[in-house]
Amino acid sequence: MSANSRPRQTQATGKVIRVADGDTITILDPSNTQLKIRLNKIDAPEKSQAFGQRSKQHLSDIVFGRSVTVTWDETDRYGRILGTVWLDGRDINLQMVRDGLAWHYKRYDSTPAYAQAEADARAARRGLWADPDPTPPEQFRHGGGAAPRAARANTPSSFAASSTTREEYFAGRTMPVGKRTPAPICDKWPDTGYWLSTNSNKRHNRKCENYRKTRGYPCGKNDGTPCKICGG
Ligand SMILES: [Zn+2]
Repeated sequence: MSANSRPRQTQATGKVIRVADGDTITILDPSNTQLKIRLNKIDAPEKSQAFGQRSKQHLSDIVFGRSVTVTWDETDRYGRILGTVWLDGRDINLQMVRDGLAWHYKRYDSTPAYAQAEADARAARRGLWADPDPTPPEQFRHGGGAAPRAARANTPSSFAASSTTREEYFAGRTMPVGKRTPAPICDKWPDTGYWLSTNSNKRHNRKCENYRKTRGYPCGKNDGTPCKICGG
């Protein structure tokens, strides 16, 4: 990947004023702007799920009231930052996984350190791994995550109402289609003008032959890596 095809990374520093759950915080930056952060690369148990409250409490114990730095490449369609939280040089997203209070969100990330942290937590039966077969949050959110049922729910009207972050919305709802195969439920998906191919993480625009034709989902103009053919 060439240097300029990588999204530019942005960062902000601020005090943590709210911890909504084990992967969502709000910070107040020096200009008194509130920034809502969805911790990327991880997925914490839902609050109503086993270990959901402990996960939230743990993140709160670590960062609440503290000054943290957040780095990110992208925001979701509602303007929320998908970021990594740093405290005293430590990657807090990674720590949540290491402490067994969040999953490595493998659907969206393949960072080896995160995969290793989850494997370590699992082996040590830390946190949620006390249960030998815990339910992944994305499966919990979608009642088992059966793709066809989730797909039927994907009407544009439910698009905005049902989701809290892009990741959560699309978790378990990635189009079950093969490469170059017309996506059967495409007409039920919002036509955002950009399409993110799941396997390659490439973003295509309407002019591309891959637009809405690969395994993937509608995305924003800054998501993923621009396709070299269509320019994203
Ligand atoms: Zn393309």
